[in-house]
Amino acid sequence: MIHRILALALKSGVATVRYPRQPPILTEEFRGFLVFDPTKCVGCGACTRVCPANAMNLEIRGNEIVVEYFAGRCILCHLCFYACPFGALVATTSFDRTTTNFEDLFDRVAHEGAACPSCGSIHATKRLIQFVDLVLKSEGIEIEDRLRLCPECRRIEALRALNAFRIGMEREGVEHGVE
Ligand code: SF4
Ligand code: SF4
Repeated sequence: MIHRILALALKSGVATVRYPRQPPILTEEFRGFLVFDPTKCVGCGACTRVCPANAMNLEIRGNEIVVEYFAGRCILCHLCFYACPFGALVATTSFDRTTTNFEDLFDRVAHEGAACPSCGSIHATKRLIQFVDLVLKSEGIEIEDRLRLCPECRRIEALRALNAFRIGMEREGVEHGVE
């Protein structure tokens, strides 16, 4: 039996290389680790939303918003690469992140945060707001002050507007004698 297996193996030839002494054979499609292109990243967070392994994170740290990639969790699915609307993730064929320094497993982009004009909390990156501003302006639309608010203040603002509208409608009903 063993002779037959050996004969078959010899016939099919060598399918592996002596890694790490020999470089591995990688196809063009091989999915390796990712790196940020900080010149393109706007801190939108799309990559963090699609990552099934929680290897991409977006955090507010002081006045900054940090997008962080942790190679130690990455399963190399490249969903983030396809989800990034700005082409800010570079897909490499690197698969070896062996290190004795835990920090080497992280890649980060730090963005200046934009403060909510109402409550002062950091809620988006300045770069993202500038980008939205630019896109809207190119369509001839001025960015509304409301859009610069954080989601919570925007919600409160919307409820206030709704309440003012309701009161206005009620007054109008009274003036016109509608019950
Ligand atoms: S890498 Fe792309 S998807 Fe992720 S935060 Fe930056 S711009 Fe957004
Ligand atoms: S390649 Fe997959 S697992 Fe790795 S960071 Fe991107 S989405 Fe997450």
